[in-house]
Amino acid sequence: MAYDDGNIFAKILNMEIPAKIVYQDEMILAFHDAFPVAPVHVLVIPKGKYTDFDDFISNAGESDILYYFKKVKEIAKDLNLDDYRIMTNKGSGSGQTVFHFHTHIISGNNLKKN
Ligand code: 5GP
Repeated sequence: MAYDDGNIFAKILNMEIPAKIVYQDEMILAFHDAFPVAPVHVLVIPKGKYTDFDDFISNAGESDILYYFKKVKEIAKDLNLDDYRIMTNKGSGSGQTVFHFHTHIISGNNLKKN
């Protein structure tokens, strides 16, 4: 699948759509999910144009991949989370709705039940 420059997260990156930003640097943007499924629900995206997890792992540089996942951990720590779930949907059949690669950081009540 080709990357669509009109996807919602591209618009957030271009500041065409507002988001509640948690963290950003030259490589990464993290912001609160607009429709949280738990008390804490943050999305972490690379600024590069990758459609999904497969695209990111296949086509990003190894140092960028490592940097990204270490930042996911650091952002969870900065949010003072001890227990959390990280999750990414790959493909519409899994539930992916925005085709700019992202990891969900989810924390709060009742995660054990899901
Ligand atoms: P996916 O379903 O692709 O794994 O995750 C996409 C996530 O983006 C969903 O959890 C959805 O609630 C969130 N989302 C959709 N539109 C917006 C938006 O305009 N702003 C923000 N912050 N999150 C959004």
